Amino acid sequence: MSNSLRAVRGMNDLLPVDAPLWQYFEATLRDWLKSYGYHELRTPILEHTGLFKRAIGEVTDIVEKEMYTFVDELNGESMTLRPEGTASCVRAAIEHNLLFDGGKRLWYQGPMFRHERPQKGRYRQFHQFGIEALGYAGPDLDIEHLLMSARLWKRLGLSDCIRLEINSLGGAESRALHRQKLIAYFQAHEAFLDEDAKRRLIGNPLRILDTKNPAMQSLVEAAPKLMEELDDVALAHFEAVKAGLDAAGIAYSVNPRLVRGLDYYNYTVFEWVTDRLGAQGTVCAGGRYDGLVQQLGGKPAPACGFAMGVERLLALMAEVGVRAPAAAADVYLVNVGEAAARFALQAGESLRDAGLDVLMHGGGGGFKSQMKKADASGARHAVIIGDDEAAAGEVTVKPLRESGEQVRLPLAAGVRMFLAQKGLLID
Ligand code: ATP
Ligand code: MG
Repeated sequence: MSNSLRAVRGMNDLLPVDAPLWQYFEATLRDWLKSYGYHELRTPILEHTGLFKRAIGEVTDIVEKEMYTFVDELNGESMTLRPEGTASCVRAAIEHNLLFDGGKRLWYQGPMFRHERPQKGRYRQFHQFGIEALGYAGPDLDIEHLLMSARLWKRLGLSDCIRLEINSLGGAESRALHRQKLIAYFQAHEAFLDEDAKRRLIGNPLRILDTKNPAMQSLVEAAPKLMEELDDVALAHFEAVKAGLDAAGIAYSVNPRLVRGLDYYNYTVFEWVTDRLGAQGTVCAGGRYDGLVQQLGGKPAPACGFAMGVERLLALMAEVGVRAPAAAADVYLVNVGEAAARFALQAGESLRDAGLDVLMHGGGGGFKSQMKKADASGARHAVIIGDDEAAAGEVTVKPLRESGEQVRLPLAAGVRMFLAQKGLLID
């Protein structure tokens, strides 16, 4: 196997056997997004490195050690495979002046790239669906996003295994105050800090709260809380978000240590978490980022959004036994003989004209083996054509999933029969 070609580590193929669940998930999400009036925005997978550095923050896990960055040899520019979607959305909104006539509700989906240690629920190419509401100060939009996600879990059959954690990061002033207290606190306990934390102590002490190092948990637990620095405006915003959740009957817990791994957040932040996937339990995360549009060169515009990890949600669906609806063909077209193969092409097109999904047998073989394949395909009916049928312009229709006699009839009558079964026959 040493010479064989393999996919890049941490980057997965989506195999046909898994595709139906992905497609079901994607179709459910498109439907759900439409029901809230969100519009799709597609941006390139590759962006200038500076965009992510400016948006996400220099002293963050993503920018410090997770980005796929390389120099384009043709022009010497530094390029980065997108590690997340918000920066590109905001860049595109500014570039195309999307906010010229007011707020916009947007969504995106696709692969993201982070150079992390691959493990269950953590990949180097993974997929996100995300939404961004640009130009809205909230808190109504913050609440909308939480209601939206709760509805999505319900639609996917996941409500019972995902819980909500929320926090407020306040505005710039509260964060500055808190930052001073954090630095003083961690300096007083410097002996307990790991290397990452020491490096971040001055550059970005808030990040230390986001540590995944078990040895630092109790230190972080006792650290000064941002919540205690919130001013009246931030508190009122947070209270309104909580009231919105209460009114909608959505349970949540306030987690004062929830800070998120990207610098652009302020006010509301949240994560939807499950206990069913081990360590990689955050399936969806987001919050408000009122400063980002201006920070990336646009006119100031408040905003909020969230992103969900598709692989983790699909793993959760598999874990709790959610299945994609069966997607077998209506008809498996059995054809034996040269004339039959030619007539089968014509019959297949006629059946598709009538709106049926038709799986044409390929690769030859006798009746018996073709019928076995028809059965295994899950199709509801076999339409059987031998040279005999072909000469007469007829087809034999045999039900595969329910009892019933097989019938032989002219092709046109066969098509009419299927139309009648679908309730589509208008005489
Ligand atoms: P984590 O704390 O697990 O590293 P994060 O805070 O880096 O997550 P975000 O940047 O908020 O993650 O991305 C939103 C969601 O995308 C996460 O909640 C998760 O479901 C998913 N996600 C993030 N990184 C990965 C990855 N490497 N592989 C698979 N899914 C991921
Ligand atoms: Mg991460």
